[in-house]
Amino acid sequence: PVITRFAPSPTGYLHIGGARTGLFNWLFARHFGGKFILRIEDTDQVRSTEASIKAILDAMEWLSLEWDEGPYYQTKRLEVYKEYLKKLLDTGHAYYCDCTPDELEARRKEALAAGRKPKYDGRCRERGLGPGPNRVIRFRCPATGTTVLNDLIKGPIFFENSEMDDLILERSDGLPTYNFAVVVDDLTMNITHVIRGDDHVNNTPRQILIYQALGAPLPHFGHVPMILGQDKARLSKRHGATSVMEYKEMGYLPDALINYLVRLGWAHGDQEIFSREELIAYFGLNNVGKSPSVFNPEKLLWLNAHYIKESKPDALVPLLDPFFEKLGYPRKPAEYVAKAVETLQPRARTLEEMAQGMKFYLVDEVEYDAAAAKKFLTPTMREAFGRLIPVLEEMDVFNEENLEKAFHQIVVTEMGLKLGKVAQPVRVALTGVTVSPGLFEIIGILGKETVLKRLRKALE
Ligand code: GLU
Repeated sequence: PVITRFAPSPTGYLHIGGARTGLFNWLFARHFGGKFILRIEDTDQVRSTEASIKAILDAMEWLSLEWDEGPYYQTKRLEVYKEYLKKLLDTGHAYYCDCTPDELEARRKEALAAGRKPKYDGRCRERGLGPGPNRVIRFRCPATGTTVLNDLIKGPIFFENSEMDDLILERSDGLPTYNFAVVVDDLTMNITHVIRGDDHVNNTPRQILIYQALGAPLPHFGHVPMILGQDKARLSKRHGATSVMEYKEMGYLPDALINYLVRLGWAHGDQEIFSREELIAYFGLNNVGKSPSVFNPEKLLWLNAHYIKESKPDALVPLLDPFFEKLGYPRKPAEYVAKAVETLQPRARTLEEMAQGMKFYLVDEVEYDAAAAKKFLTPTMREAFGRLIPVLEEMDVFNEENLEKAFHQIVVTEMGLKLGKVAQPVRVALTGVTVSPGLFEIIGILGKETVLKRLRKALE
């Protein structure tokens, strides 16, 4: 069975690149009916925080990337690492080293000055040291030979063992290093496919050597190319929001973000819109590209607009609440809000835009912007409003059809004006702005009482 994992380090929020890695692993597992494991790599005790763990779990949940096992925490698995360290020590694949950071630094400088590539010189290799304070455990890296990474995305990559360090497996504080813990975890969790960012490509041969030293079978590896900003530099905050939850706060739908993320590196013909079911059915590493992808906020916005348009209005109502709250708009019954939502779905690109566009549906009194107000204060408009008000008052069935008829009768037939000439001022009177959903739609939803109140107010 296929078993994948997502193994974030809790040193910050879940960012776009991490979420894509998580998504690829989730999809790969789901595609094969396998298992997806979440593992928190928290051995960096200085940089790991509880807040970050929570932020990562929240983001995973928001994206509905549900995990089948975990979250596991590396700091709770120290016994397991010790056990595997012992194996490596017993078989001579690992050894204690007491070189101090100062000594190492001095030797590094020396190497650089002599034009050599700085790496650990193996000084403690044959000293037969045992455990003791300020000692680390190092891996005895083979001096010769080549390590091959048969990458599922990049193809075979060759590494000369002589180029590699005797890397540290356990620090002097007793905690395992990333390269060691990740091997023990992937091995003991029976991970079959390690899918991660290609910033880890150079770690992989070291990990392969550890597997080999343990006599363990290798998982498959697939390294996904980086995500770049529009300027081709590695994606960072200056390219826009990089935190998944920031997108939630800006009013993006999780499905839109998922659809966007999957296309950062993966393709299925020229299809752009995918349901989750389709993604699960089609996803594979064979269609992940070899070159970096460029983050395009415009496209994400376009996808979000699409998902908003396609959503059931009822489903959007509860999602809008936090935005109404932020904007200070009053709450209205869900049924009313749903009708209003429907009128804005064709144009709103984010939930935030939608919430802003709903102001006139929610507040008691609309505010006109001064330029717009001028438009409906002409004498002709006063007359038109004056004629419309009593007719609307008398209207029994206040629906789009009757409204349209009444407007036509008064504006076109009786006053000899174009409908549009009056429609725009009425729009301003009702909404405060010049751009809104269809006028008769709005009137139907606002209802007789509010419409009359706003038309009268305009005449004051
Ligand atoms: N904790 C590592 C990271 O966040 C995980 C790398 C891996 O998947 O092996 O980059």
